[in-house]
Amino acid sequence: MENIGYYNGVFAPVEELMIPACDRGVYFGDGVYEALRVERHRFFALEEHLSRFRASLAFLRIPFEMTDEALVAILQETVDRVESESQQIYFQVTRGSAMRTHAFPEGAQPNLLIFTRGVPLADIVERRRLIVLPDTRWGHCNIKSINLIPSVLAAQAAKERGCTEAVFHRDGVVTECSSSNLLMLKDGVLRTAPTDERILPGVTRGHFLMLARELGVPVDETAFTLEEAYDADELMVTSTSLHGLPVCELEGKPVCGRDEPLLRKLQKAYREYFYGSI
Ligand code: PMP
Repeated sequence: MENIGYYNGVFAPVEELMIPACDRGVYFGDGVYEALRVERHRFFALEEHLSRFRASLAFLRIPFEMTDEALVAILQETVDRVESESQQIYFQVTRGSAMRTHAFPEGAQPNLLIFTRGVPLADIVERRRLIVLPDTRWGHCNIKSINLIPSVLAAQAAKERGCTEAVFHRDGVVTECSSSNLLMLKDGVLRTAPTDERILPGVTRGHFLMLARELGVPVDETAFTLEEAYDADELMVTSTSLHGLPVCELEGKPVCGRDEPLLRKLQKAYREYFYGSI
């Protein structure tokens, strides 16, 4: 199989998988999700993803009663049905299926949707171009909600301009990117926005900070401005699917390339940690 989907107990190729029109994910985006890398049919950073998933469920007050053990068994069965040695699995839980009414419907049971497919790891050598956009998202960006319209529009804007990602800012202060975190190297210090309601606490972000500390690289979790981003020695876009991408351009202006040795050292440490942990 090239890909496989799962919905409430039913497995089918993603293109054929059916979900009910009254799943609240369809018309309210009333759900949460996670995405993980799977190498050789084993999950990377499973515990961290599960704990963020539980935090997102708790915030939305979705009573998903399946244990982690039972959930992981289904996730494992899903990835085992796909041949690829390098997969990306997505899963989401919505509040349930019911006639459309805003408040929580009584008696609805959460719906579990999963899909996985072969996705190679991103190339982390080539430097990427980014655009800059105002962050128009809601006030709870730490929650991995399936409501992603501002991110969808930003990703499309980046694509239309031949760029990889859009850097979000609020009043000139960088938050993160449309589906990744942004890390900066300046004078040997690794700096990124703190984990508050303005950013998703990226699992990859956390690993880069941990590895930097281990390597003796000072870490500063203080948000930086756009001005500082333009003046960065290096910028790195981090996420589960991208690992850590180096940058060469921000809004058409050449940036970065001033601390390549430290950038490559951190990328290498991450790849080693990644392969060593699965
Ligand atoms: N920020 C946003 C808005 C995201 O959607 C993601 C995940 N794609 C990330 C950051 C990176 O998180 P992670 O490293 O856990 O994939």
